[in-house]
Amino acid sequence: MRLATYFAAGQRHVGIVSADGQTVTPLALPRAQAELGVLTLIEALSQGQSLPEAAGAAVPLSSVQLDAPIPHPRRNVFCVGRNYHAHARELQASVFKDNDANPEAWPIVFTKVPECVVGPFDEVRVPTEVSTEIDYEAELCVVIGKGGRNISRAEALSHVFGYTVVNDVTARDVQMRHQQWDLGKSFDTFCPMGPWIVTADELDGTRTRVRCWVNEELRQDGPTENMIFDIPTLIETCSRGITLFPGDLIATGTPAGVGMGMKPPRYLKAGDVVRVEIDGLGRIENRFV
Ligand code: MG
Repeated sequence: MRLATYFAAGQRHVGIVSADGQTVTPLALPRAQAELGVLTLIEALSQGQSLPEAAGAAVPLSSVQLDAPIPHPRRNVFCVGRNYHAHARELQASVFKDNDANPEAWPIVFTKVPECVVGPFDEVRVPTEVSTEIDYEAELCVVIGKGGRNISRAEALSHVFGYTVVNDVTARDVQMRHQQWDLGKSFDTFCPMGPWIVTADELDGTRTRVRCWVNEELRQDGPTENMIFDIPTLIETCSRGITLFPGDLIATGTPAGVGMGMKPPRYLKAGDVVRVEIDGLGRIENRFV
């Protein structure tokens, strides 16, 4: 099932997208719940409730404006750094030069503030007053369904509600300057998300493919099998001593091919269009302004 949040007639709605991606059927939700997007469904389902009834006939997807499936995450988005072997190598000399000799011992985890989430086709603002090194990171994002603390690797996938696409947009100079990454990852609009959530029964996130184009030039292309720390390990890591809640988000890291890894680096500028696509899920596309 594909669950989307979208605007129609000036209001937020939540609906089920058809298998062919052509239409969306709105669900009957009070307005305050619809404002939470798909999060409200994930929370209801986790409490044993069923999906709401359809609120009307399916409408063409082209007639609505897709929003981030979870437009207001309850808290920061968990993100994993350097999680594909080839990407770790391409940035070895820069972001990670001070890392210890055994970089595969533990995942790098940081967060993005929830307010930087924007829709799958929204504009991303280049903060030229703060940064001259804006970069893209195409990523598969895990959406937690069943919460829990100290979730084991063996149980981890049963806690996954589904998956969505994010671009973990990054200001490299700010990321480097402050040692901790959160500032350089959290500028307004720096987390485009969507186009919807595909439930885990329809997509095996451990075996799919992440690609990214900048102005139609293919830059990133990596299978999720190439993660250094797989999805069960990431869920185990993020839930160690921290209770995960339904709707929590874990961005799983980016494949090789980011702008910083090129020689010379190729950063984004106003007017660039970045498209991220994941097999079995869909695509997001954002113009940088
Ligand atoms: Mg990232």
